[in-house]
Order: sequence, then C-alpha cells, then structure tokens
Amino acid sequence: MARNSIIITAGGVGKRMQSSLPKQFIQIVEKPILMYTIERFYHFDPKSDIIVTLPQEWMSYWEELIMDQDFRIPHRVVEGGKERYYSIKNALEKCSGEIISVHDGVRPLVSDETLKNCFRTAREKGTAVPVIPIKESVRVKTKEGTIAVDRSDYLIVQTPQSFKKEILIEAYAREYHKGITDDASLVEEAGYDITIVSGNVENIKITDQSDLKFAELFLK
Ligand code: C5P
Repeated sequence: MARNSIIITAGGVGKRMQSSLPKQFIQIVEKPILMYTIERFYHFDPKSDIIVTLPQEWMSYWEELIMDQDFRIPHRVVEGGKERYYSIKNALEKCSGEIISVHDGVRPLVSDETLKNCFRTAREKGTAVPVIPIKESVRVKTKEGTIAVDRSDYLIVQTPQSFKKEILIEAYAREYHKGITDDASLVEEAGYDITIVSGNVENIKITDQSDLKFAELFLK
C-alpha cells in the first residue's frame, strides 16, 4: 500500500496572535505547537510521508528548533506561499501518496479517532472532511441586524481534510480566489461530493491567546 502523504501547513505568519513569533512556533510546555502536530500524525502512522510548509524566512529558525529539541521525526520542508492555497499547491508537487491529507500546523489536538475516520473514508469515498456540530445558538447577520437560524443546519469544519491524490491535484489546478478557506471548498468547486466524518472537539485551530490557554490545558 502506498504511503499516505500528509501536508502539515504552517506557511502563515499570522496576525491575530499579537505576537511576532508565528503561532506554529509558540512553545507549550517547552515544545513548539508544530512539533506536537507532527507527532500526532507520526504516532498514528509512522510510515506516512510528512511534508511541512513553512514561511521561507522562518526555515532556519525551524532548523534551530529541531536541533534544540532533538526532534527526530522524519519530514520534508517546502516553502509556504502568500495564501494558504499557494502553500498547499507547493507541497502538493512533492506528494506521492495515494491519499493526501492536509492539516493545519496549528491544530495539535487532532485525535487518533479523527485521523482513523479521515483516512478510512478518503480511501473508500475519495473525500473525507472532519466536522463537529455547533453547541451554541447561531444567528446570521442581515442588512437590518441579525436573525436566529437552526444550528442543526450548520457544522464546524476541521482538518485534516483528506482526499484521493488525483482529486486534490485536479482541485488545485483551479485558480485561487478569496472564497477558498479550505481544501474541501476547492474540491467541491471541482465537482466532487464532500464526505463528512466525525472530528474531535479539542481539535481547535490555535488562532488567539484563549485558544493557546485551551491547548495548554490539554497538552500539559
Ligand atoms: O491563517 P489561518 O488561520 O487560516 O491559517 C491556517 C493554517 O494555514 C495555519 O497552520 C497557517 O500557518 C497556514 N497557512 C499557510 N500559508 C499561508 C497562510 C496560512 O500554510 N500563506
């Protein structure tokens, strides 16, 4: 069986954390977030081919972190792009696995169960996107103000979004536009059905200081 290719994308320099250090490098219990994320995938499948995208100007810093931490998980590094779309596109050129899984570098709390759901379903159906239900009430903005909607009509989308290689390559042959926030939206535009699987609630995208506190609690 061909190895799974895992793209862990950490090509952004992030503006929302109020920190000059991109969030993927922020340390929790003396280890950078990105290393926890890589460990999750390696632990799940040590044979997978891991490709990490990084901003070009932070690559030497990553090398230093690897030395400091004596981090030994095999992975390849490719240059990130101006938008997440371009980071993934660069990484895709290096992927050879039958299934390609794209994961945000700042989601270190993905569970084995979520990974199992994603890989199994992607192999069976071609696409697999982890989601969780919304617990809060939801309102939609209107011109006049806001209006309540049925929360059971909506889902929160996570990563890793996993696809058969040829599907993701076809999707990324499409042009970039601002509406693309994840891989599933691009694959859907290319005409494929998106299969949803169960994600895990802790699998948050670390975006601001409160997310960091939440992740600290779990990773400690
Ligand atoms: O900025 P956003 O929260 O959407 O970032 C989600 C993930 O995409 C992060 O892991 C970030 O590093 C990555 N990203 C990227 N290349 C960019 C921008 C964001 O790989 N140009």
